[in-house]
Amino acid sequence: MQSYSLIAPAKINLYLEIIGDRPDGFHELVMILQSIELADRIDIEASDTQDISIRCDHPQVPLDETNLAYRAAKLMCDVFPKMHANYGGVNIRIEKNIPVAAGLAGGSGNAAAVLVGINLIWKLGLTQPELQDLAAKLGSDIPFCISGGTAIATGRGEKLDEIKHLADMWVVLAKYNNIGVSTPWAYQTYRQQYSDTYVSDTAGIKFRTKKVHSSPLLTAIAHQESQEIGKSIHNDLEKVVLPEYPQVAELKAAFAAQNVLGTMMSGSGPTVFALCESEQQAIAVRQQVRTQISDPQLKFWVTKFSTSGIQTVG
Ligand code: ATP
Repeated sequence: MQSYSLIAPAKINLYLEIIGDRPDGFHELVMILQSIELADRIDIEASDTQDISIRCDHPQVPLDETNLAYRAAKLMCDVFPKMHANYGGVNIRIEKNIPVAAGLAGGSGNAAAVLVGINLIWKLGLTQPELQDLAAKLGSDIPFCISGGTAIATGRGEKLDEIKHLADMWVVLAKYNNIGVSTPWAYQTYRQQYSDTYVSDTAGIKFRTKKVHSSPLLTAIAHQESQEIGKSIHNDLEKVVLPEYPQVAELKAAFAAQNVLGTMMSGSGPTVFALCESEQQAIAVRQQVRTQISDPQLKFWVTKFSTSGIQTVG
């Protein structure tokens, strides 16, 4: 039976700016997204029935049709019913290494891997842009998870512009197991508090989007200047999440006190990351912060920027 193993990297935001409301109810965003080597592994095989099955031993990951990986497989079955009838359904096994509900796009990466895997199993021959068009129907972060690396994302986050990929930066991630931030809550709260900054006309959106293209962060990325990158990272959602979750704010302050290149919350949180020059520095920073905040609920990961999206292995 045909099967594939795929690596689905997590992402962090190096930049997240909320520009305004969209007619479809989502927010208009400008983000700079970065893949990291912390990744889930997805094994996918053709089933001898027409069904889609999910296996995962992480207690927070649903195994039913609400799983994003399931929804990706269902989308492929709906869009390619003849292939579904010919090849049958799929069995999907998720090895979860990316923390769940962490602002690291773990579920989105799993869905991206399933789209890539079914494209291979059913020999559809879809190109990356064609897969990304399908991915955008499932979720805003999923097109990026397919191609990975470093990219500017606009619209809901699904429109991508590739930029020079960053590779040689190390990251320490930290997340409290017992803190979860609802992404819809974060965006709604932002709307309540900051809607006076919103623009909604096409010219205004274009202007704000263009500004990012000529920002110090993009210049620093183009020249691979890690010090400048660290100084220029930005996330609008910190303005609502950090005041509501003082432990997350303290965690960020603890990283900032370590002379790291930069520290920020990823997406809607609650994961906080710190950018470091080397693996050695990242390990030392993790040790310092772990000693300073001795809470057993606080988990750490040391990883590196990645230039890859979904990769097949084995
Ligand atoms: P994003 O950064 O895209 O907002 P996230 O990293 O914050 O995502 P996920 O790890 O994708 O969050 O999980 C969000 C919720 O989605 C979880 O509470 C979980 O119940 C559900 N979920 C559905 N499918 C998956 C999956 N394959 N992996 C993890 N969580 C999933």
